[in-house]
Amino acid sequence: MVGKEAYPTSSQKEFGEKCAVFGLYNRSDHLEVGRITADGLHALQHRGQEGSGIATSDGSTISIHKRKGLVKQVYDDEDPASFNFDLLPGNMAIGHNRYATSSKKSSDCHLQPVIDTEKKLTLVHNGNLPDTEKVEKFLETYGINTSDLNDSEMMHAAILHFKNIGASLDEAVVKAIPLFKGAFSLLAMDNKQIVVARDERGLRPFSIGALNGGYVFSSETCALDAIGARYIRDINPGEMITANENGLRSFEHSRGEQRLDIFEFIYFARPDSVLLGKSVLVARKNLGGMTARETSHSDADIVINVPDSGTPGAIGYAQESGIPYEEGLIKNRYTGRTFQRPGQDRRVSEVLQKLNPVREVLHNKRVIVVDDSIVRGTTSRELVRMLRNAGARKIHMRITSPPVKFPDYYGIDTPDQRALIGAHKSVSEICEYIGADSLEFLSYDGMISAIGLPESMLSTSCFTGDYPIDIGKRREEIVYQKS
Ligand code: 5GP
Ligand code: MG
Repeated sequence: MVGKEAYPTSSQKEFGEKCAVFGLYNRSDHLEVGRITADGLHALQHRGQEGSGIATSDGSTISIHKRKGLVKQVYDDEDPASFNFDLLPGNMAIGHNRYATSSKKSSDCHLQPVIDTEKKLTLVHNGNLPDTEKVEKFLETYGINTSDLNDSEMMHAAILHFKNIGASLDEAVVKAIPLFKGAFSLLAMDNKQIVVARDERGLRPFSIGALNGGYVFSSETCALDAIGARYIRDINPGEMITANENGLRSFEHSRGEQRLDIFEFIYFARPDSVLLGKSVLVARKNLGGMTARETSHSDADIVINVPDSGTPGAIGYAQESGIPYEEGLIKNRYTGRTFQRPGQDRRVSEVLQKLNPVREVLHNKRVIVVDDSIVRGTTSRELVRMLRNAGARKIHMRITSPPVKFPDYYGIDTPDQRALIGAHKSVSEICEYIGADSLEFLSYDGMISAIGLPESMLSTSCFTGDYPIDIGKRREEIVYQKS
């Protein structure tokens, strides 16, 4: 039986967040699974920059390496004494990039893969279980203290429990899944096999590819491209797949119904990924084009992008409106995503660190600024100030999604509704707050039609408050109800 001592502890309970998962199964060890997994994780760096980890197995022993830092730093093998890929031997691997949301940055105790001290089972998880009551009660019945475990660690403990009482890994996952309420794209690995599972609504993306006779599992398709793998298909909502010496086998662990988080299209996924058969880049350009159709732009000289995530939308807006596209803000390529940094003061100054306006482009211009979303309003407010200082005469903000009004409980960093400016301010109040000359958002219906998928295949909870998987007690956190 596993107790709390089997896991590193922290004083503050955290929940899983939107991260990256990647896995590779191969029958023989002719592929360098550790290195390929590191390359896959590098392609998924945008999904998490706090830390990274890989576990491999050679059929008998699990090896693991995890650390805080960016992928290139975590698997830096220039100094072989501190890390080299020989430390990750075997024919199968799972890996993870972690996306920090907690203000407690000092500890690296929640880095994944999750593993027990005896290294019987290791697991990586992308998503979040808003409601852990069932799994907590279950674990506590067996004397496992859950107070220091996050959701991913509880999933690991539950699967390990079933393994310890004699189940094979795939049987253990099937038995544990009914305890998990929420979003999960997960990979569990013991010394013999990898088991892949996606929640019954498929909230977070997850796809399978083929590489030199082996199989690859990735949060996004861009990582398949980066390692030269061929995309096979998405893992279905409610699907479980085993990868072992018998090849791949697919099972239905729950009846699935696709509800991919629409925010993957709007902001989170890489533009060169394909989600539900749709190019993210094309979807974002269409969101921009639709925004141009729905909003006013007669009083403008140029359209500028807010790099990077606002860029395709700005191009789409410019093409649809016929107003010249310019780069008016230059992004420092060496800064990551700033949004998840804790603490408001730091977040404000990080916008300045990240983006610099080009005076020669902006001076005396009436500017349409296109961004993908407004969450807290901090970025837009800083941007407007920055653009005015650079000489822009008029600043019209256009946002290629509706106002975010509801917190996300499936893995995005918008946990407190009071921090969402769209939850408690009208569009004109937001405009006043950010100091723009005008502000317009894309409509909800416009967003759905621009993406080109039926609304029923998407989770739009951050705009509507309709949560496709019950969020349990966390409903009490919703202070501003649907209007
Ligand atoms: P705001 O300043 O309104 O809080 O944030 C809006 C900006 O943050 C937009 O430029 C958008 O691209 C970006 N953004 C939206 N959601 C996320 C997220 O989940 N993570 C990160 N890093 N940035 C986000
Ligand atoms: Mg942005």
